[in-house]
Amino acid sequence: MVGQPWGCISRVTAGIPAGIRSSSPGIPTIEAIMSSPAYTRGQALPGILERRIALIDGAMGTMIQRFKLTEDQVRGERFLKHGKDLKNNSDLLNITRPDIVRDIHEAFLAAGADIIETNTFGATTIAQDDYLLGSLARELNLAGARIAREAADKHTTPEQPRFVAGTLGPTPRTASISPDVNDPGARNVDFEQLRAAYFEQAQALLEGGVDLFLVETIFDTLNAKAALFAIDELFEQTGERLPLIISGTVTDASGRILSGQTVTAFWYSVRHAQPLAVGLNCALGAALMRPYIQELARAAPDTYISCYPNAGLPNPMSETGFDETPDVTARLLREFAAEGLINIVGGCCGTTPEHIGAIRQAVAPLPARSLQRAFFRTDAA
Ligand SMILES: [Zn+2]
Repeated sequence: MVGQPWGCISRVTAGIPAGIRSSSPGIPTIEAIMSSPAYTRGQALPGILERRIALIDGAMGTMIQRFKLTEDQVRGERFLKHGKDLKNNSDLLNITRPDIVRDIHEAFLAAGADIIETNTFGATTIAQDDYLLGSLARELNLAGARIAREAADKHTTPEQPRFVAGTLGPTPRTASISPDVNDPGARNVDFEQLRAAYFEQAQALLEGGVDLFLVETIFDTLNAKAALFAIDELFEQTGERLPLIISGTVTDASGRILSGQTVTAFWYSVRHAQPLAVGLNCALGAALMRPYIQELARAAPDTYISCYPNAGLPNPMSETGFDETPDVTARLLREFAAEGLINIVGGCCGTTPEHIGAIRQAVAPLPARSLQRAFFRTDAA
């Protein structure tokens, strides 16, 4: 039974009353058929996706937890006297313990990951305000992008280029969900605040050297649209155009994201951004995620599909909080590949370099899902 969101998403949903669901998913039909603009970075990625399934890395958060860092270790010298607990601020390690972040990136690269994700899941002013560190957002993103860039470049070979995905996560404040169970209309953030925070984050990630953007762990579509708007604005201002991956999170047994949309409705809401890939991550293990990846693969026949589930359901007794072993995760994801569902695959909470290595071996003999012409686009024309 899937009731409460867990994994990295639980870091930001604590303030949302349980059981809140939006009543109408809304399905915009945007039929802007435009030719895809040329990418200015990450140009080799689409070609790789045409030929084979690409590997994205595993969890950053639960890998960091394995180090069992103390409050003082996370603070370092610079934040020793800071007036708020910082132990759970994983993004701060980009500044105070870059060695740990680098080691985790390198372990995933050594396991075969083609794409690594920057450690910037919560590095927006809005998320960092919870730690009274909102003013640090730009620095956290710049540092996070640079650490990942160096690690990726070190492991890049002519046969296997490595890519850095600049990660934009959700925030603890959501544009379409009330923080007050007695007042469904209440909001503690608006679109403009989110847009500004995501713009600052995306700009710093771009400056730090990322190859693509990953808007991930989306449980509120309106938050994600603020991020997509900000990224588009950044592209317009800079003339850059990076591949984009959009990854939602199904938190509920009815197959909806927290703000109420089915996977199909979610896709219709964000496809105007013309991502290179759309997918799902976190909250569920591969076994429970399967029907929603199937639904998405049907709904988005003209777009690559990404999938990085948690290592099963949480087990508080295990070291990472999740105990699905690499062979089990790899076997399940191999079935996804055999069914022709996926183009980019990896892991979220509880997955380790061993998981990524096992997934790589399991899917290597199988062809990637091929793109088809979009049937609903054709029908609407
Ligand atoms: Zn996760």
